[in-house]
Amino acid sequence: LVASMVEVEESYIMIKPDGVQRGLVGEIISRFEKKGIKLKGLKLYQCPTELAQDNEHYKDLQSKSFFPNLIDYITSGPVVCMAWEGVGVVASARKLIGATNPLNAEPGTIRGDLAVQTGRNVVHGSDSPENGNREIALWFKEGEVVEWTPVQEPWLK
Ligand code: ADP
Ligand code: MG
Repeated sequence: LVASMVEVEESYIMIKPDGVQRGLVGEIISRFEKKGIKLKGLKLYQCPTELAQDNEHYKDLQSKSFFPNLIDYITSGPVVCMAWEGVGVVASARKLIGATNPLNAEPGTIRGDLAVQTGRNVVHGSDSPENGNREIALWFKEGEVVEWTPVQEPWLK
């Protein structure tokens, strides 16, 4: 066996309010599940405006002209917060998600298949393993992320 250079990482993936409102929750979760990564945290959550504004989550974007719209968007309805774990999961999840502007996102990606606007691009994925850990700690409380080991059980016997 050749030792892999790619490590087990965590990514914070979030279905944004448009994904929830459009009934795309199952479709989006299904794409990550089928990839073979491990779900460690999952909740429906209404992000309060104060939290979104002061939130470390989008702090890199605070100076952008679209920041107030981004806060309105992300607090406009419930989001689905998820923690996923896997080898190289940060980069692979961003490949599944596709480019920020859905018009540039490849067909087959979530944004390429399901969205048309940058400001309504249905899903978030962490951009580095460091941000994966940071964002999971930010959006989940103690005890909401579950450590578990998949078992080989004949579930349908
Ligand atoms: P990504 O979500 O692909 O990592 P960014 O981190 O650059 O993209 O931006 C975070 C989010 O901010 C985007 O997913 C999108 O919802 C919003 N956003 C980014 N750029 C714009 C823009 N020019 N106009 C409106 N919203 C934007
Ligand atoms: Mg980003």
